[in-house]
Amino acid sequence: MGQTDHRGEAGQTVQTHQSAQAHPEPAHLPDLAAAGSDLLLVTDDQFHVTNVVVAPPGLHVREAALLDIAGQADRTALRSAVELSLAHGRAESVAIHLAHSREHLYLATVEPVPRGLGAILCRATRVPTTAVAAITNEVSDRVRVLETLLDMVPSGVFWKDRESRFLGANRAVLDSVGLANVNELVGTTDNDHFPEEQARLFRSIDVQVMTDGAPVEDFAEPLTRTDGRLERLHTTKHALRNRDGEIEGVLGVFQFVTEETRVADALRESERRYSLAARATRDGIFEFDPNTMQFLLTERCCDLLELRFTNEPVPLRTVADRFHSKTARERRKRGYKPFDNPDSRVTNTEPIKLADGSTRWLQIVAAPLFDGDTLSHVVGAMADITVDVERELDLLHRATHDDLTGLANRSSLTDRVEGLLANGTTASMLYLDLDQFKVINDSLGHQAGDEMLAQVAERLKGVCGPERYLSRLGGDEFAVLWPEANPDRTAGFADEIIRDIRAPISLDGIEMYSTASVGVVHINSHYTSAADVLRDADIALYQAKADGKNCWRLFNPEMREAVDAELAAQNRIRRAVQAMEFNLHYQPIFDGATNQLAGFEALIRWTTSDGGTVAPDHFLPYLEKTGLILDVGEWVLGEACNQLARWQRDHPAARGVSMAINMSRVQFRSDRLAETVHNAIATSGLDPSDIVLEVTETAVSDMPEQLEATLEAIRSLGIRIAVDDFGVGQSSLATLHALPIDILKIDRAIVQRIGFGDGAPVAAAVLNMARPLGLATVAEGVETQAQMNWLVRHGCDEIQGFLLGRPVAAEDAAKLL
Ligand code: C2E
Ligand code: CA
Ligand code: CA
Repeated sequence: MGQTDHRGEAGQTVQTHQSAQAHPEPAHLPDLAAAGSDLLLVTDDQFHVTNVVVAPPGLHVREAALLDIAGQADRTALRSAVELSLAHGRAESVAIHLAHSREHLYLATVEPVPRGLGAILCRATRVPTTAVAAITNEVSDRVRVLETLLDMVPSGVFWKDRESRFLGANRAVLDSVGLANVNELVGTTDNDHFPEEQARLFRSIDVQVMTDGAPVEDFAEPLTRTDGRLERLHTTKHALRNRDGEIEGVLGVFQFVTEETRVADALRESERRYSLAARATRDGIFEFDPNTMQFLLTERCCDLLELRFTNEPVPLRTVADRFHSKTARERRKRGYKPFDNPDSRVTNTEPIKLADGSTRWLQIVAAPLFDGDTLSHVVGAMADITVDVERELDLLHRATHDDLTGLANRSSLTDRVEGLLANGTTASMLYLDLDQFKVINDSLGHQAGDEMLAQVAERLKGVCGPERYLSRLGGDEFAVLWPEANPDRTAGFADEIIRDIRAPISLDGIEMYSTASVGVVHINSHYTSAADVLRDADIALYQAKADGKNCWRLFNPEMREAVDAELAAQNRIRRAVQAMEFNLHYQPIFDGATNQLAGFEALIRWTTSDGGTVAPDHFLPYLEKTGLILDVGEWVLGEACNQLARWQRDHPAARGVSMAINMSRVQFRSDRLAETVHNAIATSGLDPSDIVLEVTETAVSDMPEQLEATLEAIRSLGIRIAVDDFGVGQSSLATLHALPIDILKIDRAIVQRIGFGDGAPVAAAVLNMARPLGLATVAEGVETQAQMNWLVRHGCDEIQGFLLGRPVAAEDAAKLL
């Protein structure tokens, strides 16, 4: 209220506004009474009425508390006025209904009076109902709008007077201090709600803001509760000024920062809310009138919507046109009616297109205002949450896409396939794997490997176009999903992919070549899960690899049967390893010159649960594929060494007899091999020179470099190395020469051709080659006396074969000693 003059019945002009400095003199009281007030009374400092000069008939004011003179609904307002006037030492005006009758509105003015006379002077003048009704209704409508809005804001909003006494607050504040009604808060200070230290901290910031006049923005405050709990707040405080620009108090907005915010998920959520709250003042506020179908938009709201701000109502159409997302359109089409009761709230996140082509994400919160049963207005706020939405979209993108190539990842592909299956859409799936990737990755390094994958991805994007869905499943595996493709077109497309991948790829100026193998599946109604589709595509890919790579294969059920059989075999062998159903047979090896027993070769056997014996050629491949050969090989090594040690202990003839042990190429890839061998010898107590480790020629020629160091390490223990099955592989003299080996075992196939065709010349060549390299020779698979004679004559050092002895169990082998 400003300088308002009221003309009393006596026609005198009475100034109802008093400045802070000019208190009424006691002597003036009767004058004031004569000035036409309908109520005039004085209270003590407990606000008890001590002196009634005038009162309307029917209102009982004697010995009442000042607030009781006001109607229930207006007591808060009156109380605020009293407190403000005390706080500022000046008059405050407020419109109230008196307790005895709601019929009339009174304009009440409260002001402090000098000590001695009392504490508060309150006077009220009746305002003609008709004149005021219109204004108050509108005012209270506005107030209601604002109060509703304030209560919708998740942040706490409060305002205090110069003494830091609360003057008002929104729901969030009341909730945070555990009060139900704002009346309970008004007039209290932080001291009434928080521990002393805490209240002092709050007060010091209030004082700072009120002294400096500058806001303190977005600072983190610790909050200690009376029960000792510690919470954190983010708070912004502004000085509250009156019309004359004088600072009257402080306005604060805060947001709790909870502990859970440390968890990444919650962090995002709370950041989003916090930024919403921090932007509360930057929110665009709107009000919609369903009767006129028009919006009132704040300037900020117009900014957010990229509409020109005019202060005029804006038609629904204009605003609705800004929201052209599909969901928004569909909602409109459905005749969406979100506000059917006073408690309904709507929170939407909607994109709008900006003039510069970018997208702005708006979060819109809206609530209805009801007039009785009819919706009178919708009020709400909108905030720009583009940053948050984009961050979330980015996270989502990263969860569904592959970082390196930007392609969809396995989980997105799976979702896609599940979608097709659910709709009953047929499709082709092409599962692609680069044939040479591992070599390139290993030889040129990961960076070059990544670069290669990125280039392949680009190339595939080109072939696939928009109609096919390309994804990277990991490593060098890609998949293409082609909805509604027919088998013929798919075949052509698979050819095209294979042709495209074959073109050279330039890595750092070096031209690299890779080929691709592709497994193809036609997705039809037989499939019920994406996992099945991927499994079959993988089987077809496996087949393409087995068929020589650089080709594609269409899945058929027989392929799956083969794979199933393979899996069953692998499972059987797993169980055999668990039960250790293996044992060793020993085949004697004789000195060619003296015919003396020179050693044994340990050969593994599998005795199945039904008592049958399985030869190694049938199960070794599974042991190797499953990696179980590492465990089994270690067992063979230990068992063969221990057996020889036992024989040497029990039979003097066993001294100087050696034990040849077969090693798989897989064992040579393990860097623990030398250690394993060392342990086996140490445990058995054998002389290392009694041990020969056999490695096949093909293994040697496949990985000469890797092998060399391992062989060197083993050989340095004093163990001899034999190259097994020599003569069938591709090893050149040069590799052999470079490798640390001691013995060549001439393959059975060569031995058996002795006496037929060119067999003897090959055997002669091997023997002649070994001698200058200083390698000993052993002939395997000697079955006839003629073969033996020929070999001995040509200087072969040792002879092994059925002619002289079959592989037999340990007890039988011992008889040879
Ligand atoms: P290998 O190292 O060449 O072993 C010699 C194979 O030739 C043995 O077959 C043996 O029974 C067979 N053999 C020996 N003399 C004659 C003969 O005069 N005529 C004919 N026709 N065959 C003869 P076996 O025991 O079935 O072993 C097959 C292969 O399995 C072995 O070939 C070896 O490569 C592998 N193997 C055996 N035991 C082990 C083992 O403990 N570890 C590893 N990694 N491989 C093993
Ligand atoms: Ca062997
Ligand atoms: Ca052999």
